[in-house]
Amino acid sequence: MLNLVLFGPPGAGKGTQSAFLVDRYQLVHLSTGDLFRYNIKNETELGVLAKSYMDKGQLVPDSVTISMLEDAVNKNPEAQGFIFDGFPRTNPQAAALDAFLSSQSTSITSMVALEVPEAELRLRLAERAKTSGRPDDADPLVIQNRIDVYNNETAPVKAFYEAKGKYKGINGVGSIEEITERLVAIIDTL
Ligand code: ADP
Repeated sequence: MLNLVLFGPPGAGKGTQSAFLVDRYQLVHLSTGDLFRYNIKNETELGVLAKSYMDKGQLVPDSVTISMLEDAVNKNPEAQGFIFDGFPRTNPQAAALDAFLSSQSTSITSMVALEVPEAELRLRLAERAKTSGRPDDADPLVIQNRIDVYNNETAPVKAFYEAKGKYKGINGVGSIEEITERLVAIIDTL
């Protein structure tokens, strides 16, 4: 199996690049942000809970997020591999994912990270707000909170995979096509 964690700050382009990678490598795309938004749209109990955190730019609690992710993996028993997008976002999530995948006799092949400077992220999120309809893109204070949460809680996940020799960073600034090429060049060596 090819199991990739696509990593990067809010606005790095994970969703955009996932769409190409899914096609090219025949992977199942699991985005925790998308799963939460699906639940919000359908007004599930999980959606109501998630919304109360997401609207403030905070993380949804690990226990909730981890069990939602494990359910999503279990619903795809035929998958040839997964792209995890927006997960893991904390070190406890990374440890839980490791334990879960090893219970399924598989593992993360690599973490592939889109590295983008903060000033560029702010510009992209402000631009995305015009079309995304996402409340968490519309408010500069919420964007700032998401960037702070990323720096404090999510950025340390890099070290988790680095310690296993599984971290691959690429420059996430450039055209969509250029960034796809950089990702493919790395993934083809895995
Ligand atoms: P982005 O990376 O552009 O901020 P996402 O769609 O990945 O957007 O996530 C949107 C929001 O959903 C996050 O700000 C957070 O509130 C919640 N969320 C997504 N993934 C996770 C996760 N793994 N753990 C906790 N909360 C999450």
